[in-house]
Amino acid sequence: MTLDELGHQTAQQFARTYGRPPHWMAAAPGRVNVIGEHTDYNDGFVLPMAIERYTVIAAAPAADGKGRIQLHSTASNGAVSLDLSEPVKPGPKGAWSNYPVGVIAGFLDRGAKLGGFDAQVHSTVPLGGGLSSSAALEVATATLLEEITGQQLDPVDKALLCQKAEHDYAGMPCGIMDQFISVMGKRDHLLLVDCRSRRPELVPMSDPAMALLVVNTNVKHELTGGEYAKRRAQCERATKALGVASLRDADADMLERTRRRMDEVVYRRARHVVSENERTLLAAEGVRASNWPTVGQLMYASHASLRDDYEVSCPELDAVVEIALDIGREGGVAGCRMTGGGFGGCAVALVRTDAVAAVSERVAAEYERRTKIKPALFVSRPAAGATVLKG
Ligand code: ADP
Ligand code: MG
Repeated sequence: MTLDELGHQTAQQFARTYGRPPHWMAAAPGRVNVIGEHTDYNDGFVLPMAIERYTVIAAAPAADGKGRIQLHSTASNGAVSLDLSEPVKPGPKGAWSNYPVGVIAGFLDRGAKLGGFDAQVHSTVPLGGGLSSSAALEVATATLLEEITGQQLDPVDKALLCQKAEHDYAGMPCGIMDQFISVMGKRDHLLLVDCRSRRPELVPMSDPAMALLVVNTNVKHELTGGEYAKRRAQCERATKALGVASLRDADADMLERTRRRMDEVVYRRARHVVSENERTLLAAEGVRASNWPTVGQLMYASHASLRDDYEVSCPELDAVVEIALDIGREGGVAGCRMTGGGFGGCAVALVRTDAVAAVSERVAAEYERRTKIKPALFVSRPAAGATVLKG
């Protein structure tokens, strides 16, 4: 579905819910991280891409002229009504409306003058599928509010406002990647983000010969051991042994020299982060130069490092990567890796555009044969970031 079609559907949904057409519409994309995993909380580098899947929010001034905001989503039953004469607070834990309400609170905190409005959310980003439907919802809301208030935010400030909404209202202590790419993504570009300086840099991927194939394994292994917190603590121990502020400041030589002062597991965790930062910078150069064999090799190396050193992969993600390797460059696959936090979720492959149909078919069939699970696949070129569809 094109973004125009999605916008059209959203306007229809709005009319069905509220009995009149919307005045404003804004859209923001989901994302996939091409490379740079578990580097964000180590002050490192990430290289995400906006995907051709969007969340649209349509709105019109409240019909009764009262200072009340109503929010509906086609993906969710609970509608929300917000009285602007009262302080805005987070709703119950897990409520979908916490994301847009947190963004509204961020605008009010900045002194924005908001009257009541009715809004309808409609999306093609799968919810909870690791493609950041949460950031798409926040950034679409922020883009809508810029339009309603006439107050344009600086892009970095806008992304940080959305991140704060996710922290404070949804209770999810996320990094900055998802909101940065959803705000600042650009068609035919990836975005290299330095998570320390928070400086984003667009990386042209203009060669139409290649696209990204996202393979959702449709598994999510619930881990009881607090694996994410453990990884963060291990990275912390590595920085202490290395005497650096964060793993961003370490390189392979330093790590080897300090190896004896770390336990084996902490060493391997640090080796992943240090090497992943290097790979991410090299991959950005490779994308710029349309050097696809190199970018693909870096993706495979990233996967091996996440699997062996960081130990956040799982048999299903490994299966997708093995299938990609079997298909090989001759079959149209340059590289493949798990993407996102791990233990399930999605893999991403760099695929020749003219081979996408054949590769998708082969990956889906072979994955199902090996795991007895049906995967979900879709292909995307680097898409545009947040936009106003109607203002
Ligand atoms: P991800 O961001 O990977 O999709 P999250 O768990 O971070 O997964 O965010 C998913 C949550 O965001 C959903 O459970 C829901 O609360 C909210 N959400 C995202 N998109 C929508 C939508 N279109 N309509 C309603 N809620 C949404
Ligand atoms: Mg999310």
